[in-house]
Amino acid sequence: MTQIRFYDTPRREKVAFEPLEEGKIRMYSCGPTVWDYAHIGNFRAFLFPDVLKRYLQYRGFVVEHVMNLTDVDDRIVKQVGDGGTTLNEYVQTYIDGFFDDLDRLGIQRADRYPRATEHVEEMVQLIEKLVAEGAAYERDGSVYFAIESFKSYGEFAHLDLTGMRDGVRIDSDKYDKEHVRDFVLWKAWTEADGDIAWPSPFGRGRPGWHLECSCMSMKYLGETFDIHTGGVDLIFPHHQNEIAQSEASTHRPFVRYWMHNEFVNIDGAGMSKSVGNNVRLQDIGDREQIQAYRYLVVTSHYRTILNFTDEALKAASSARRRLNRLANRLRETSCGDGAAASASLEPNAWNEAVQTAEDAFRLALDDDLNTPRAMAAIFGLVGDAERLLGSDEMAPQDAAVALKFLTVTDGVLGFLDDVDESEPEAAVELTPNQQQMLEDRHQARSSKDWSRADELRDLLAAEGIAVIDGPEGQQWTQT
Ligand SMILES: [Zn+2]
Repeated sequence: MTQIRFYDTPRREKVAFEPLEEGKIRMYSCGPTVWDYAHIGNFRAFLFPDVLKRYLQYRGFVVEHVMNLTDVDDRIVKQVGDGGTTLNEYVQTYIDGFFDDLDRLGIQRADRYPRATEHVEEMVQLIEKLVAEGAAYERDGSVYFAIESFKSYGEFAHLDLTGMRDGVRIDSDKYDKEHVRDFVLWKAWTEADGDIAWPSPFGRGRPGWHLECSCMSMKYLGETFDIHTGGVDLIFPHHQNEIAQSEASTHRPFVRYWMHNEFVNIDGAGMSKSVGNNVRLQDIGDREQIQAYRYLVVTSHYRTILNFTDEALKAASSARRRLNRLANRLRETSCGDGAAASASLEPNAWNEAVQTAEDAFRLALDDDLNTPRAMAAIFGLVGDAERLLGSDEMAPQDAAVALKFLTVTDGVLGFLDDVDESEPEAAVELTPNQQQMLEDRHQARSSKDWSRADELRDLLAAEGIAVIDGPEGQQWTQT
């Protein structure tokens, strides 16, 4: 077995991954702030840990996964104040909406979704500990973290603090990335908070956003745990602040591997023009398109910016349908009597081909969850399977082996479900990146670099583009 390697944000490189406890992984992901429905870009931060967790389970680990629900923050307090409702009523709508969206996207549930408002007592205890340690101080009923007390503040996010410490305290949950400031742990009650307040030794108030993740992650996963995920926008200040709060209170390392997913860029998408940038999941379209969105996100490497366009969605849908069509045909063939096929293949040749594909799939994911390469490994086998099925050369046992491979890989990436085969597919245009891959493939073939040409063919297939080499040179079609 190869070594698993993950890109660790503070170390800025891929490092060998070893869990703290053999066979078991404790993982925390920053969850949604339930002040509104999530928009599609947000789901990358939920799809990424979903695939990461499924992959770690595939690699034989038991994964304990916790994701918080931020159910009190500045925006929620304002909305509740404006809307004449209670906090619980207000957030329940968006909590329900969040879980509906997870189900639509086929995201497996975390083991726990702790809510901030249900852990205020523990948060107060953590603040008291930080005050006792000299890492926090009180001002006018609020409590702030003293960043001067935490010597390595800024190192995690690779900040050059020269000129950034302006000695100002910050009360809001979000603060700009240009300044380094003492941040709030406990916010004193103000009139604008209305009924939203909890008692504490510092007076009535409510916890700050950064504090809740430190408190709830350590409560459920221990003072040191294995993996913490989140979007790159959370590296500073949120995750830097989580580290400061946690390590100043425990004097132990907080998290062993920090993994961050990149953004989704929807500027180029037609739908963003019509409905603005706050595209919700159902705005993408019907169930098939939402599944295609999952496919598009999980087959893009999590550390690259994903350009979400209508074309990319169509191609993802097409690739996903191709896999589902193949799975259906394999299912039928594996149940057949095999009279047509029987001895057409070398004994064990097909088993070896499938094993090679699975090895390539696993190696790709072992290398910092390289899902595009993992998909290329799948499509390397898909073409062969389609050819054998097309010429009636696949025996039932071979179909069963291929189907098992698709089922196992689907367990990690989640692309199989019932596809409506009668639905017509939309025509696809190549993206600039796909055009470049075709051009590179042409070059590779000209210089007889066959393995590079095959690799590019498989990468294109994973994006829904089939390349055929004919007398006129290479042609492409939508799969
Ligand atoms: Zn968080």
